[in-house]
Amino acid sequence: MSEITLSVGNKVRFKCGRSGVCCSSGPNVSLTIYDICRISRFLGVDWREIAGKYFYVVIADYMPIPVLRGIDNRCVFLELKNNIPSCKIYRARPMRCRLFPFLPVSPGDPTRVHVSKICPSIGKGPLIDPPWNLLKFYYDEVKKHYRILNELVMEKGLDPLEALEKAIDMACSEDNSASFDLDYLDKLW
Ligand code: SF4
Repeated sequence: MSEITLSVGNKVRFKCGRSGVCCSSGPNVSLTIYDICRISRFLGVDWREIAGKYFYVVIADYMPIPVLRGIDNRCVFLELKNNIPSCKIYRARPMRCRLFPFLPVSPGDPTRVHVSKICPSIGKGPLIDPPWNLLKFYYDEVKKHYRILNELVMEKGLDPLEALEKAIDMACSEDNSASFDLDYLDKLW
């Protein structure tokens, strides 16, 4: 295992050093339907315009899993600004990126979190609590994501890609959702 695990009450030293390691260690960021809507809103385009270009979909056990695209192990949104790694969609970056270097354990286990050891800033900076509030918000979105997809695929019998399309349309139409209030999300961590 390449992680350590923290429980509520545990702290860790961390201050982001902008290494960019997290964004160039393989295209492995899974997305929820809410991540996709946040990114497309931020870019000012319909989500269909970013499908294939910025994310792709793998299907596992009939469930569609959207994943950020990478080029040579680097995220498509990673760029260098004055030689410093930067995210082109930073304000609307996916939840798993917001949480990094903390890695969710499971939606059923919100009191523990893994800490990725690939981040060179772990062990440096002030002692901090893991982002429990942001983690809870993420789990709520993940549960909604799978509840909707499960209903569309398993109960209504839609094809996985058709179900994903419908689910993203549903999520993107939740106009008053806190999911699209980027200021609110920033305050969660
Ligand atoms: S979306 Fe942004 S923060 Fe997330 S991996 Fe890509 S460049 Fe990094």
